[in-house]
Amino acid sequence: MRREHIRLLINRLTAILGLAVAPSLSPGLVAAEGYTDTPFLPDAPYRVHDPERPQPAVVNPGPENAAILARPPSDAIVLFDGTDLGAWTGGPWKVENGTMEVISKAGDIKTKESFGDMQFHLEWATPTEVSGKSQGRGNSGVFLMDRYEIQVLDSYENPTYADGSAGAVYGCKPPLVNASRPPGEWQTFDIIWRTPLFEGDRLVRPAVVTVFHNGVLIHDHYVLPGKGHHKKAPAYSPHAPIGPIHLQDHKNPVRYRNIWVRRLDPES
Ligand code: MG
Repeated sequence: MRREHIRLLINRLTAILGLAVAPSLSPGLVAAEGYTDTPFLPDAPYRVHDPERPQPAVVNPGPENAAILARPPSDAIVLFDGTDLGAWTGGPWKVENGTMEVISKAGDIKTKESFGDMQFHLEWATPTEVSGKSQGRGNSGVFLMDRYEIQVLDSYENPTYADGSAGAVYGCKPPLVNASRPPGEWQTFDIIWRTPLFEGDRLVRPAVVTVFHNGVLIHDHYVLPGKGHHKKAPAYSPHAPIGPIHLQDHKNPVRYRNIWVRRLDPES
């Protein structure tokens, strides 16, 4: 029996018995990095953070190069140009050498301005010096409208549950592929976001997202089943059609640079 088969068998037995594989792991967390005690997703035959959800195939996005540092287009609102955190509240994080860096436990930061439908660009790098594993390695995140997280994580040879890997819509959908660069190298997200719309308490249009990671398509008009949660099923709760963009302090010194946004016409 191959190792992979043994692992799957152990996962199945674990799921049936509702037991953790090792007593040192938190309840429901299995050795393959995931949970078997979480609810099923509404739009896929997997549990939230399912260890058996297939890992996205690895794609080499090509070398880090100057093209990455894309100049903002003329109609962009620049949120960070390397000099200061004037467009943000919270933190504060460290600004140095044209980058901002998460200060552990300083807290998340949010844009002062709010956005709805948008094209959003940011560049990020996980620490060159690797420490931790799974969700503890280079974790941060981009929360669109203060809610919907596109995961920032060191997913270079770092297995974790698929819906929590780099570029995942956290707790909902893994990226189509794993286009991660090695730790310390600059990476890009280009995100096209269509906000959900509510009439009173009723959802009339779900959120839709398209994402490129290092220029590689990782979500293609994905219709979100709601706001993803840690270990809970995604769900919508009504909110305004605009909200701040927020970056996560997950206690890892992740760096960001060159952040800009273009507002999109909701009718376009
Ligand atoms: Mg995160």
